[in-house]
Amino acid sequence: MAGNNHKSKKKQINRAFYIGRFQPFHNGHLKVISEISKDVDELVIGIGSAQLSHTPENPFTAGERIMMISRSLEKLDLYTYVIPISDIYRNALWVAHVESMTPPFSHAYTNNPLVSRLFSEASYDVRYSPMYNRSAFSGTEIRRRMLAGENWQQLVPPAVVNVVEEVRGVERLNQVSMKGDIESVLEY
Ligand code: NAP
Repeated sequence: MAGNNHKSKKKQINRAFYIGRFQPFHNGHLKVISEISKDVDELVIGIGSAQLSHTPENPFTAGERIMMISRSLEKLDLYTYVIPISDIYRNALWVAHVESMTPPFSHAYTNNPLVSRLFSEASYDVRYSPMYNRSAFSGTEIRRRMLAGENWQQLVPPAVVNVVEEVRGVERLNQVSMKGDIESVLEY
């Protein structure tokens, strides 16, 4: 019954993994994902350092980052799973930690040397994910512009502008970036 066996064979879904902190999600990330979408059926997007928020380097919560990403990808012809991944203190166990939180995937896209090393050691196929116009499309540069009152909106998808406005993200970033205020409040 080789014919039947052949017919019942399901198409293998080509599902990949891509992780970032997305503080915030920007046009560089969007371009990377739209390039990846040409090569895969489904993409698991890991929100790294999910436990962090309300700091100058990590102003947005995992939930806010989910909103930014899900809304920005609405028009992209790609099935995605956006999953928060908290950091753990043991790098050697990190891939197993990721696997415990995500649908199975066969390969990972990253430029992060540590992430690349950990996935390679766990026998995953690791692929390079080129970033575009890196000097502008950078989370650090966008957070700097938010603090300086400069135009950051042009560097992110419109959906991200809406989310940042909805949660009053620039006001939050300004407040958590103030130095010395906590000390003066505690002294008082
Ligand atoms: P990241 O800390 O978010 O980003 C590091 C830098 O790489 C940022 O400047 C980022 O820019 C940049 N970057 C991101 N994607 C890029 C690309 N395609 N091309 C060029 N530069 C790029 O690190 P990540 O690799 O994006 O995310 C890794 C996440 O995994 C982190 O949250 C990390 O904590 C987590 N992790 C945890 C463990 C553990 O818990 N033991 C181990 C390994 C990794 P933008 O700011 O513009 O995105």
